Amino acid sequence: MRIAFLGLGIMGRPMAANLVKAGHEVLVWNRSARKHVEGAQTAVSPAEAAKEADVVWMCVADTAAVERVLFAEDGAEQSLREGMMIVDSSTISPSATLRFAAKVNERGVHWVDAPVTGSKIGAESGQLIFIVGGAQEPVEYLQPLFKAMGKLVIHIGETGKGQSAKICMNLMIALIYEGFAEAFTLSQKLGVDPHKLIELIQASMVRSGVVDYKAPFVLRRDYSPNFPLRLMHKDIHLMLDTAKENRVKLPALETVDEIYELSSEEGWDDLDFSATLALLEKWAGLGGQPK
Ligand code: NAP
Repeated sequence: MRIAFLGLGIMGRPMAANLVKAGHEVLVWNRSARKHVEGAQTAVSPAEAAKEADVVWMCVADTAAVERVLFAEDGAEQSLREGMMIVDSSTISPSATLRFAAKVNERGVHWVDAPVTGSKIGAESGQLIFIVGGAQEPVEYLQPLFKAMGKLVIHIGETGKGQSAKICMNLMIALIYEGFAEAFTLSQKLGVDPHKLIELIQASMVRSGVVDYKAPFVLRRDYSPNFPLRLMHKDIHLMLDTAKENRVKLPALETVDEIYELSSEEGWDDLDFSATLALLEKWAGLGGQPK
């Protein structure tokens, strides 16, 4: 298949590389021009990348970025042809997804929202989980591409439902990590060996994939970005805005948002979101300034 892949960040670049490895013809585009993928051609604009493509696949930062790569003057919209597919692996607003999809549907183009989970390690190893919203037929057609980049596709429902499920899942990641960070901070003040605490957590009913992924980094205080704090903060705002649109109150998440606001003020936006622990450690007098 011919794929235009737009966005070569932490996630997009290894995803595009895995499509190349699976034998697909890939044309990549990235906002800042210095990023490339071996074995793929590089386009000068999203419109150029999409020109001959069967599928336009996006993995960019946020809702505004998706709007830009599609609908700006040099956006992929310029090159849309009937029967093409747009797949969005960015995590963006479910309501904006419906607006964007309606716009391209008018041109006979399918929209599949396919945000991912698995983070940097999952993207690099081709072990992502795709959380999918869209009609059955395009989702079936895309299976070989999902397979090249991931280990599982969960088809949640119609267009927009992938984004809806994704932000609900990330809501839990933010809260579970905050729970872990608070327990980890208090346990240090109480003199509990951190390795023993993690052994206990992972042997008991509070066992968590979030702790599995993050504990090795936290023990080394390695906050290099796998999932940057600025992106989890963006997702928290997506969750709170979507909750407001749907008249839902999320009091625990509102409090966690404050932790992210303060971490952002500390200048930690480009660190991993696990760096929010450093704020709790700082307040507890445990040092906590990330390297
Ligand atoms: P990233 O490393 O920050 O990369 C973001 C990408 O979006 C870059 O290619 C960036 O271009 C591009 N971009 C940002 N603003 C743009 C704009 N206005 N117009 C055009 N392009 C723009 O982020 P990532 O970690 O790859 O994440 C990508 C998406 O996947 C996000 O929605 C994120 O929430 C989601 N996600 C991430 C993870 C993770 O663990 N990292 C896991 C699941 C889902 P430049 O290179 O020019 O900055």
